[in-house]
Amino acid sequence: MKFPAPLGLAIFAAMASTLCNAADAPWVNPAVTAASAQVIDLRHSIHQHPELGNMEVQTSVLVAQQLKSWGIEVRTGVGKTGVVGVLRGGKPGAVVALRADMDALPVKEMTGLPFASKAEGVRLGKTVPVMHACGHDAHTAMLLGAARVLAEHREDVPGTVVFLFQPAEEGAADVDDFDTHAVIGAKAMIRDGALDSPKVEAVFGVHVMSGYPSGHLYYKPGTALNSADDFRITVNGKQTHGSAPWTGVDPIVASEKIVDGLQTLVSRRIDLTKGMGVISVGSINGGTTTNIIPETVTLSGTIRTNSADIRDTILAKMPTLVSGIASAYEVKADLEVMHYAPVTTNNPGLTEAMVPALELAAPGKVERLPASLSPSEDFSLYAEKVPGLFVFLGATPEGQDMNKAAPNHSPYFSVDDGTLTTGVKAYVQFVLNYVGRVTGKS
Ligand SMILES: [Zn+2]
Ligand SMILES: [Zn+2]
Repeated sequence: MKFPAPLGLAIFAAMASTLCNAADAPWVNPAVTAASAQVIDLRHSIHQHPELGNMEVQTSVLVAQQLKSWGIEVRTGVGKTGVVGVLRGGKPGAVVALRADMDALPVKEMTGLPFASKAEGVRLGKTVPVMHACGHDAHTAMLLGAARVLAEHREDVPGTVVFLFQPAEEGAADVDDFDTHAVIGAKAMIRDGALDSPKVEAVFGVHVMSGYPSGHLYYKPGTALNSADDFRITVNGKQTHGSAPWTGVDPIVASEKIVDGLQTLVSRRIDLTKGMGVISVGSINGGTTTNIIPETVTLSGTIRTNSADIRDTILAKMPTLVSGIASAYEVKADLEVMHYAPVTTNNPGLTEAMVPALELAAPGKVERLPASLSPSEDFSLYAEKVPGLFVFLGATPEGQDMNKAAPNHSPYFSVDDGTLTTGVKAYVQFVLNYVGRVTGKS
């Protein structure tokens, strides 16, 4: 339901008291507790059998089986290996989507846990070790737990709940990172109608974070995570002898000027009052020995920002800068940019309206983040379509030194089982607390 602002505010205020009471449902805590052993089992099982992006075949079978066993409508093969579940509640209300990602990373697990992964996968024809090093096993298990709890109490559930189990959040094992035509992850889920039938009004996501205490939830209105775009520049010169550079065209010197020039986009061209941006060149490859000027140098790197305006400026100005420098040094430079994710932006009104939901999920353990975090998420693509809220859940046991916890993506990364029930509750409370008011464009 959409209301014009003044009327919407009045109705929102009138609805708030009744809905807040309904949200504090007495059945939630016992139901979540009853489901917790199964959630832990599911997480261990998924952790032990991780699958790379777009290869989540067994994981999606498990997810679909579980959802069906609770009487939830299931669509499979969404966004390639994704699963969408639909639960129609017994009370009137909005259509709300809850999202979890299912993919693992090409990392060799070193945790030594009893359920540690020994799995291998194939990424672009190469066999690689596979590990749930970002906690997507926990996300999948927590969302399954929420599905069970909501399905068991469907008569008390307002509106309709759409469960989005998404593949390939970290990239796809069958797609080259620079295949600019590829549609994967959240983009593929959206293309396949994950938000359309039924039409989703708001979307919620939870991500476990190492270095934050277990059972605590963190939120931030507005910008929550950076944008991410990767680039590759192929600089073509003319190979020649190192003793006579004037007989060829040197791509190495030109590449050095391009690396320098890219830094001036950040320091000279973007409006730094609007946020931050970084351009990092992470690889330079070219040449074989001391006395040959090579034909080609390849640079690759990443662009991260916390402002859509800064991102747009960098992406708009980069091609001219690269081609201008290339032309000055008489080389040819091909620039490829792979757009991964826009800035993850939490709808401010929705975020504030959902703080009580977080408080019910983690009483006394909810914190507002003072600044956005540096990672990126393709959850941002859902939040561009409908108002969204993405929150963070601590994954490191309380009492442990948070600074020493292995970060997400480390081979030593681990998630405290004790935090899973908080994640389940957060998903459930998002549904119960949502008041069906679209709070403005995100
Ligand atoms: Zn990750
Ligand atoms: Zn992740």
